[in-house]
Amino acid sequence: MDEKEKITKTEEEWKKELTPEEYRILREKGTEPAFSGEYYKSKEAGVYLCRACGEKLFSSDTKFDSGTGWPSFTEPMNRENIELKEDISFGMRRTEVLCKKCGSHLGHVFDDGPQPTGKRFCVNSLSLKLDKPN
Ligand code: FE
Repeated sequence: MDEKEKITKTEEEWKKELTPEEYRILREKGTEPAFSGEYYKSKEAGVYLCRACGEKLFSSDTKFDSGTGWPSFTEPMNRENIELKEDISFGMRRTEVLCKKCGSHLGHVFDDGPQPTGKRFCVNSLSLKLDKPN
């Protein structure tokens, strides 16, 4: 993604556009409680967009039931639309997943997912917005 295509807003602007809960997850790298989100058990078809900027992030075709209580995917729709970052917070070594376009926090990716990728993209429902086909 071209630097020019990226969205840069001040935290004050994000605060006005997002609900306090969305802001805490997306901009402050929070995590919603397991089994609390709107999408963890959803089997509806569609494209999951970034709730902050609308970028296409994950397809329902790659969604699987991980049993964790968070929406889980085997891969992003386009590797170019996400950014991976090492996260050593809370005494763990994890890989954070961010929306590349707006820099918002989505969740983490782990190596214990099902085939064909073996990856588990574990994403907050509050970071996503399901766009259903008409
Ligand atoms: Fe975004």
